[in-house]
Amino acid sequence: MRKLQMVDLKGQYEKIKTDVDKAIIDVVDSTAYINGPAVKQFQENLEQYMGVKHVIPCANGTDALQISMMGLGLQPGDEVITVDFTFAATVEVIALLNLTPVLIDVDKDTYNIDLKKLEEAITPKTKAIVPVHLFGHVAQMEEIMAIAKKHNLYVIEDNAQAIGANYTFKDGSHQKAGTIGNVGATSFFPSKNLGAYGDGGAIFTNDDDLAHTIRGIVNHGMYERYHHDVVGVNSRLDSVQAAILDIKLNHLDDYSSKRQNAARHYTEALSKSEHIETPKTETHKKCDNSNGICDTCDCHVFHQYTIKIKNGKRDELAEHFKKNDIPHGIYYPIPLHSQKAYKDERYDEKEFTVTNQLVDEVISLPMHTELDKEQIDYITSEIIRVVG
Ligand SMILES: *Cc1c(COP(=O)(O)O)cnc(C)c1O
Repeated sequence: MRKLQMVDLKGQYEKIKTDVDKAIIDVVDSTAYINGPAVKQFQENLEQYMGVKHVIPCANGTDALQISMMGLGLQPGDEVITVDFTFAATVEVIALLNLTPVLIDVDKDTYNIDLKKLEEAITPKTKAIVPVHLFGHVAQMEEIMAIAKKHNLYVIEDNAQAIGANYTFKDGSHQKAGTIGNVGATSFFPSKNLGAYGDGGAIFTNDDDLAHTIRGIVNHGMYERYHHDVVGVNSRLDSVQAAILDIKLNHLDDYSSKRQNAARHYTEALSKSEHIETPKTETHKKCDNSNGICDTCDCHVFHQYTIKIKNGKRDELAEHFKKNDIPHGIYYPIPLHSQKAYKDERYDEKEFTVTNQLVDEVISLPMHTELDKEQIDYITSEIIRVVG
């Protein structure tokens, strides 16, 4: 059996090595290291792939979120609602801009934003909602957009984990995750579904004015050379990363289906245990098939394959994994509202029953484009041996 890894970046690289190596050397040869033709080309190809009018590349996913909020003109004191169960970057940028983060509980089945809690959290100060498409599964965007419209709020999609996922609306039309809200932010961190060989990120929008504003913000607030109209930042995707990403973009749909296949194998084997809850895709009716894996609409691209252990044996399983060199992760071990940096008297523990339970039950299994059936069979049999 091939060596187990949480992500297998080397195995993936070897299959595209000739193209990637050539692309890197071409950029080095060209000396157009910053904002070179490779960046423009990737931007255009990504716009086409995503079906979005504007892609603005930037330095990383955290910047993409921050710049999106700056572009929308959010002001100190504005309340921004996001989930308690996500990577800290989502809430970090809200706090950094002196906006007021409002953390809310998630849905127990999808781990995504809870619509009822969302409506309850809206106040006259609320200006924006940041749904996170956690672990690669698109949040309920149709409903979120309706709530936003009703209350006149912006929607900023944190699409760092779900690039390539498709959202299907009730009328059957599709849109890529990250292009449905006013603005979407993604990350090209190496282990993300479309990963660079370093840092990178991008912002998506169909709004021409917002795109113009954001293009200035990423470049020191300059709209005309050496005229600084607003306070901006320096946030660029470098040309080498863009050239690599442009090659990997051609493989993204194949990468997504490889992840979905691996997820299908996992779910098939783990559904046998009554103590394990496999990922559910409940974005809309079409996803409601029996094994919980969506075959029809690609609404889950499995950035992580995360299960819940329902009989209290999660830590025992993690210990067994450690002893047997089976990679795994606990995403996330502490709810954001309990993190030192984001604790706040405004929060009431009773409001976070789901996240407080998830942190004790979840465990993420190896998930990547090179995972094979033999590896999955071994991992799942070890899980059932411990959990029962
Ligand atoms: C990775 C990630 C980010 C941040 O991306 P970076 O490129 O590492 O800055 C933001 N939000 C979520 C949900 C992420 O998973």
